[in-house]
Amino acid sequence: ARRQSGRRVWVLNDGEQAEAGAALRLHNDMHLAVARGELRAWYQPQLDAHSGALVGFEALMRWQHPTHGLVFPSVFIPLAEDNGQIVPMGAWMLERACADLLALQRACPPDAPPLRVAVNLSLRQFCDPQVYEHVAQALARSGLAPTQLELEITEGTAMVNQQHTLDLLGRFKQLGCMLALDDFGTGYSSLAYLKRFPLDVMKIDQSFVRHILSDNEDRAIVHAIITLAHHLGMKVIAEGVEQAAQQQLLASMGCELVQGYLHGRPMPLDEALAWLQAHQRP
Ligand code: C2E
Ligand code: CA
Ligand code: CA
Ligand code: CA
Repeated sequence: ARRQSGRRVWVLNDGEQAEAGAALRLHNDMHLAVARGELRAWYQPQLDAHSGALVGFEALMRWQHPTHGLVFPSVFIPLAEDNGQIVPMGAWMLERACADLLALQRACPPDAPPLRVAVNLSLRQFCDPQVYEHVAQALARSGLAPTQLELEITEGTAMVNQQHTLDLLGRFKQLGCMLALDDFGTGYSSLAYLKRFPLDVMKIDQSFVRHILSDNEDRAIVHAIITLAHHLGMKVIAEGVEQAAQQQLLASMGCELVQGYLHGRPMPLDEALAWLQAHQRP
């Protein structure tokens, strides 16, 4: 976009116009996405970095739009966050993810340890007065053990209103949920508050993992994050793990869990079930 000096006119080129038009249509269609059954929950495996055992899945939203096709969250989550639709969409996701985890658990041997599903809560959801009810309802309706549900909030979300974060995380903890801090290292955390939040898991952002084999600074940052998390009594999961050598290095630094294309991309439930069968074969 080009701004003409003096006059407040925005000139969009063709590409930008198409993009803005598409965004506007998505924006208008969004309030129908839940009712029309267009949202999809995809699942990406999370594994023990040492043993390679499956520990659970992160639930990631997709939007199967009737004309735009499969829309990715980088496109529609920011819009949904702006227009508030993320609240009903997020409530849908909580219900779906809890129900689907039961199906995934049933596909495991009866003596397998309980799997976990991690669900993302955005800032708008986290500040919505109904969010606690949405979580409690999804758990109650599915019959899932609360420890099988992990809630992910970003560092940014956690820091906006620290008293609210402290209160709400406390209530989620009381309910029995696991709590994870997403994208750690990309925002501005007050370390003083971090120690007061009842968090179970620190997620190292993939931007630090990407060059961990070649970049000494990134490696130092990851090492420091792992040390900090452990001193605060948290476990660490690294996201964006694409190479076996990255996983080995992370494991040697004490990182407990990994998630990334190395083991599996986000997949629809039927593919996740097939992935699980293949993973269990000796
Ligand atoms: P996120 O929570 O940080 O999720 C991780 C993103 O990294 C996912 O992108 C995942 O597909 C991608 N990823 C996983 N492993 C690898 C890897 O090895 N390499 C690379 N390059 N990427 C990897 P996705 O699914 O497109 O989601 C993007 C973001 O959208 C998420 O980032 C999250 O912030 C948001 N999001 C997704 N689903 C939901 C949802 O249900 N609710 C909310 N509030 N936000 C969501
Ligand atoms: Ca996440
Ligand atoms: Ca993340
Ligand atoms: Ca991220």
